[in-house]
Order: sequence, then C-alpha cells, then structure tokens
Amino acid sequence: MIKVVKFGGSSLASAEQFKKVANIIKAEKERRYIIPSAPGKRYSADIKVTDMLYECYGLASKGKDYKQSMENIKTRYNEIISELGLDLSLENEFKIIEAGFVGRSGRDYAASRGEYLNGIVLATYLGYEFIDSAEVIFFDDYGNFDAERTNTAVAEKLSGIEYAVIPGFYGSMPNDTIKTFSRGGSDITGSIVARAIKADLYENWTDVSGVLVADPRIVDNPAVINTITYKELRELSYMGASVLHEDAIFPVRKEGIPINIRNTNAPEDEGTMIVESTSKKSEYTITGIAGKRGFTTVSIEKDMMNSELGFCRKVLEEFEKQGISIEHMPSGIDTMSVFVSQEDFVKKEQEVLAGIHRNTHPDTIDIESDIALIAIVGRGMKSTRGTAGRIFSALAHARVNVRMIDQGSSELNIIVGVDDCDFEKAIQAIYDIFVTIQL
Ligand code: ADP
Ligand code: ASP
Ligand code: MG
Repeated sequence: MIKVVKFGGSSLASAEQFKKVANIIKAEKERRYIIPSAPGKRYSADIKVTDMLYECYGLASKGKDYKQSMENIKTRYNEIISELGLDLSLENEFKIIEAGFVGRSGRDYAASRGEYLNGIVLATYLGYEFIDSAEVIFFDDYGNFDAERTNTAVAEKLSGIEYAVIPGFYGSMPNDTIKTFSRGGSDITGSIVARAIKADLYENWTDVSGVLVADPRIVDNPAVINTITYKELRELSYMGASVLHEDAIFPVRKEGIPINIRNTNAPEDEGTMIVESTSKKSEYTITGIAGKRGFTTVSIEKDMMNSELGFCRKVLEEFEKQGISIEHMPSGIDTMSVFVSQEDFVKKEQEVLAGIHRNTHPDTIDIESDIALIAIVGRGMKSTRGTAGRIFSALAHARVNVRMIDQGSSELNIIVGVDDCDFEKAIQAIYDIFVTIQL
C-alpha cells in the first residue's frame, strides 16, 4: 500500500507544526511521498510565505529596496531550521533566489521558492530524498499543465525511490522557466503524484477535520462530511469551499484514487473521504453548501425571443468576444439572464451591451450587481422530495429575498442567487434547516 501525503501551509508554518507532521508521516510506513506547501500563517494576522515572496519580488523586480522583505522570509525558514536543530543552511539557496529576483526571473519563480525551500527543510528533517518538482512536473509552451508528460516523468523518477519529498505548487516550462498552478495549487501536485505512482490513497492534511457542510468562517462549528463524491466536491470547491483546490480531483479521478482530508492538529479525527461513487447516503439530505459573492446579472427581454433562431448564441457571443465566462443562465420564454463575475464584467460592460444591442435588438436590457450565488450540493437530492421547498422556506423565514433559482441538469445541485448583503444569513439559514434541526 502506498500513500501520497500533502501538507498545507498552516500544517508547516512553524517548527512545532513540522514536529506534528513528522509524527504523522512516521506513524505509517505507507506514507511514502510527501508534498509540502510553503509555510503558511502561524496565527490569523500572520502572512503566508507565498505572499511575502510575491511582495519581495515586486520590490526587487522594480529596482526598489527589497532587502528587509527578503530578510523577513529568511527569518521564517531559519527559525524553523534552528528550532528543529537541523544541520542545514539555506544561505546559498537564498543567494541564487536573490539574484533571480533582481534579474526578474518571474513572479511564478518567486512564489515557487516557498515550496522549494520548505521541501528542502522537510526532506532534511525526515531524512528523505528531495526531488525538485521542476524536473518532473511540466507545463507546455502555452502554460497549460502537460498531464501525460508529467505522469510518465513522475512515475519514472519515483520508481526507484522509496521515500521522497516533492514540493507542491510548481513545475517547469519547456524553456526551463518556472511556472506555478493557481493559488492553493499544492493540492494539485499531490493529486498528480498520487496518479503517477498509482497510490492507494491521497491524504491531504490541513487545519480542519475534513470537508465541512459549510464554510467554518460563516457557520460556527459546522458538521464534518464523512464521505463525498468527486463530483459533489468539485461543485462545492468551485463555489468557494476552498479546502481543496477545485482542479485537484482530476488527476486522481483518472485512477479512481480516493482523497482523505485530514487535520494535522487532530490526527485522530477520521476526516472526509472523497470518492468516485458511494452507496452511503449523506447524513443530512444535502451534502454541503458553498457560495461566492460578487456576481452581476444581465437580463435581456424580447418578445418572441424563444422563436428567434440563434438568439441565445448571439447574446453569449458578445460575452465570449470580451473574454467573460458565464456562470449561470436561467431563462424564460421572452427573457434570459446571464450571470457573470462582477469583476470581469465591469471592465467590458459597455462593449458587451453595445454588442448585444447591435446584434439582437432586444426590448430591454437590465443589469443588477452585488449578487451572491449559493450552491446547495448533494447526491441525495435527486431521490428526495421537497429539498427545494425546504431551502426556500428557510430563506423566506430568514427574510432573504431569492433573486434566482437554477437547478443543475444533473440534479446534483441547486443554485440560488441572493443579494450580497444576505449571503451569510442565507447560508446559515440553509445550514440550520438541513443540519441544525437534525442534530
Ligand atoms: P491548506 O493551507 O492546508 O491548503 P486551506 O486554507 O487551503 O488549507 O484550506 C483549509 C481552509 O478552508 C479551512 O481552514 C477553512 O477555513 C476553509 N474552508 C472553506 N470552506 C470549507 C469547507 N466547506 N470545509 C472545510 N474548510 C473550508
Ligand atoms: N503556497 C501556495 C499558496 O499559498 C500554494 C498552496 O498553498 O497550495 O497559494
Ligand atoms: Mg489549500
């Protein structure tokens, strides 16, 4: 049995956390390939090393004074090294990094050094081989992740190595420059390694005891989800349940490898199993709730719209031309609404509106901003009557005005749109109707 284990930033934020991590790793000989993130926050007002690196690079690449900023980063690592009593100096590494910053080797290179250095420290502490991810994780010329080339390279490299540390978050481009995944991307690296070596389990260790029914920053002490499917988790993570990167399920899904989310600070908790499919029912009809603020709706009205061939396509084309992706698109007989990210839309709104007017001649176009979308996700909803009814009565009782309703065609989720200002109240109300009243 082989396990790939990934530790997030808060799990590796200090020497004390490193000790917990080493205990977890050494507790099972199957935990063979370790993916570390960069040191994260030690307390809520702290700054992640990744953010410190972006800031430092910003200064150095603009020719500004970056010395103090670099010093603060060195201190984060040196504190960990000295408190662990390691015989290790990163002085030479920092010389190379500093030269890279001044020589403008790129923001991605800068950010990746957080994981790179933490990987060296962790490998030294554990006595495991260190593998630079630049040698095995590849992107193509366009910056897209090169899954198959990577898969072969990781499998080959690890075939003769029993225990290794492979830093998360980055890989290399064909021209040898460094590229990172998007933020939180160490989760993806773990999944890639798990696929390549056909692991039995991908353990993802973080600072909560699993995927929770709702965001713990909104709902106080939410229930833990025992088992969730890849599909359900993808819906939740896309809609803001940030516990696992939304793309991290793809590599393991190819091999049907389950992911187990665990808590570094409570290793006795079983956490959440993320699986391809399961006969286990969700405990609360719904599996989870997640949401995001900051959407705009563009509602277009035109008599006889439904009989006009190609109408929707023409409208959507105007968004596509401006590079705006569509979140949801509920429609009626003579109306259609398009939900888009407010941030993306404001920059191009006049171009989009002019295009729609020119090409579809609508009766009216109405725009509303500051909408939040909430996804209620659950494999059990398909076979349970009254779920939507319960959601809406909960929202009505909480005096939340529902702006939009959209049920996904897979019947795996129901999306509701509410005013931004009602966002947290709405999530709490939905949580209460399904979970609190059952506890
Ligand atoms: P790591 O640094 O270990 O990768 P992250 O900060 O990326 O950890 O993810 C864990 C955090 O995700 C939790 O501390 C929690 O605040 C947040 N989170 C948001 N939604 C959820 C959810 N539904 N379940 C669990 N955690 C969630
Ligand atoms: N350190 C990176 C970040 O802060 C990647 C990760 O933590 O997964 O986004
Ligand atoms: Mg994360």
